[in-house]
Amino acid sequence: MSEPDFDHALRAVAQRLHDELCLAAVSIKVTDNSGNTTQASFGEDDALQLACPRVGVPLQVMRRGPAPTEQKRGAPGRWVRIVPPYSQADRGTPGMERLQVVPAVVSEKRVGDLLLVRGAEAPRFTMADDRLLSAVATQLGIAVERVWLQREATEAEILRRTDELKTALLNAVSHDLRTPLASIIASAGSLRQHDVAWSEEERQEFAEAIEEEALRLNQIVGNLLDLSRMEGGTLKPEKGWYDLGALVDNVLGRLKALTSRHRIVANIPEDLPPVLLDYVEIDQVLSNLIENAIKYTAPGTEIQISARRDAGEVRVEVEDRGPGIPASALAHIFEPFYRASGQGPRPRGTGLGLAVAKGLVEAHGGRIWADNCPKGGSRFIFTLPLAESADASSSPRG
Ligand code: ATP
Ligand code: MG
Repeated sequence: MSEPDFDHALRAVAQRLHDELCLAAVSIKVTDNSGNTTQASFGEDDALQLACPRVGVPLQVMRRGPAPTEQKRGAPGRWVRIVPPYSQADRGTPGMERLQVVPAVVSEKRVGDLLLVRGAEAPRFTMADDRLLSAVATQLGIAVERVWLQREATEAEILRRTDELKTALLNAVSHDLRTPLASIIASAGSLRQHDVAWSEEERQEFAEAIEEEALRLNQIVGNLLDLSRMEGGTLKPEKGWYDLGALVDNVLGRLKALTSRHRIVANIPEDLPPVLLDYVEIDQVLSNLIENAIKYTAPGTEIQISARRDAGEVRVEVEDRGPGIPASALAHIFEPFYRASGQGPRPRGTGLGLAVAKGLVEAHGGRIWADNCPKGGSRFIFTLPLAESADASSSPRG
């Protein structure tokens, strides 16, 4: 009964009892708190018919005291008397006298039954059989209770995590979305103020702030949508053949407002084969990695984006010359809402970028991980399978 697969365990117990007690059939029925029944049976078909689930079978169950003897009636204690079913309807069914029932009871509650069908000519159960069956029923009760407790614990854990995610999402929406919005509203309001003579340079700054904050908003909303699709299990990449070099150029072009203060070096070999991917999703993965490299490193430092073919996959790397990732955080940075705490003020963020990148890469059958470079700075690597694309005859898009 300590087997992890409960249904399998029930069947094994049924089979064992069938063999040990030379029974025609054994059926074990277990009912959980919500009234759901699990039944595992073993034995001859016609005998099993007798042990089919039936309602309204009153049973005489005694739980406390020693078993009764010829001389003395039973007193309270731990024992179970095996009784035949007593329902009116069953009395007329042929063979019913062969069926005997041992209830499994836990904390005064009947959680299941052992339904035993003896052979037509088999002798009655002995006292030793009774004791064995009583012990089995007790074990069964304990096992059922354990399975219930485990289920309850799992459900509680799922609820707790859903709750945590909800709180984190609400925090993200209320804080992380409002900050860029407030900034956009303020900059746009300033630009509209005709009574102030803004210089061309100041106008440019407002416009840049609006663009930067809008990009930030776009990124957060994209991440939130992807996360909800991942949680809901509806993330299905719509793949096509694309040229990775063109995709990287496209992302860098779109993020120009953010990358202008860093030295970006892209190194994508010309002869890289086209890769089967969902353009929007891999765009999001690269954007999240590049956005981090910009956010967590000092202006003026270099960010390298490279790709190469490696056995049956293509390997894309984003490497920076920033502070790197603390060793203790390396195992957690891909979890939703996780943010590593470093020295000094932390750039703003939601802790979603890497969780989303991981979900998207894995949906493509790839892997993603991070490490720190010996020269300093961190390196993020993801792979995409190339096997299918290697023998592609179609030409790349994008
Ligand atoms: P979001 O991406 O949602 O705006 P975020 O950047 O904090 O927020 P992630 O992109 O998931 O969230 O990154 C998780 C954490 O990993 C970051 O908070 C940061 O501590 C660490 N991290 C990520 N990229 C780098 C990097 N290039 N250098 C140093 N630390 C990094
Ligand atoms: Mg990020």
